[in-house]
Amino acid sequence: MANINNILLVEDDEDLRENLALQLSLCGEFETTICVDGIGGLNAVKEDRFDLIILDVGLPDLDGREVCRMMRKKGVVEPIIMLTAETSEGDTILGLNSGANDYITKPFKFTVLETRIRAQLRHQATKDLFFTG
Ligand code: CA
Repeated sequence: MANINNILLVEDDEDLRENLALQLSLCGEFETTICVDGIGGLNAVKEDRFDLIILDVGLPDLDGREVCRMMRKKGVVEPIIMLTAETSEGDTILGLNSGANDYITKPFKFTVLETRIRAQLRHQATKDLFFTG
């Protein structure tokens, strides 16, 4: 059952970005689009529809939480998982207030991210079912 999910990955750290893109491709069910900054991410959601967005908080041009808020304003309803290096609770809440569905604190294991991605996609699929059926 080849059900390909389109994922947008917005991360400026090259090593992490390449690593995540590789791991996601090895799963065999994700098609990953890569952006290196917030403006790139915002342009990407304007042009394409993604099943899930992975968004770094610390981007060179914009704060990832601001990017998240702007994506929601543009009508993006798909799950957004934030990658954050900030561990304080205040920052976590800010991340969620920006419209994110989930967050992961760096450093993390890929399997943790993969599990969160699958959970969000499952949740989204259930919601789709509910609203359409
Ligand atoms: Ca970063």
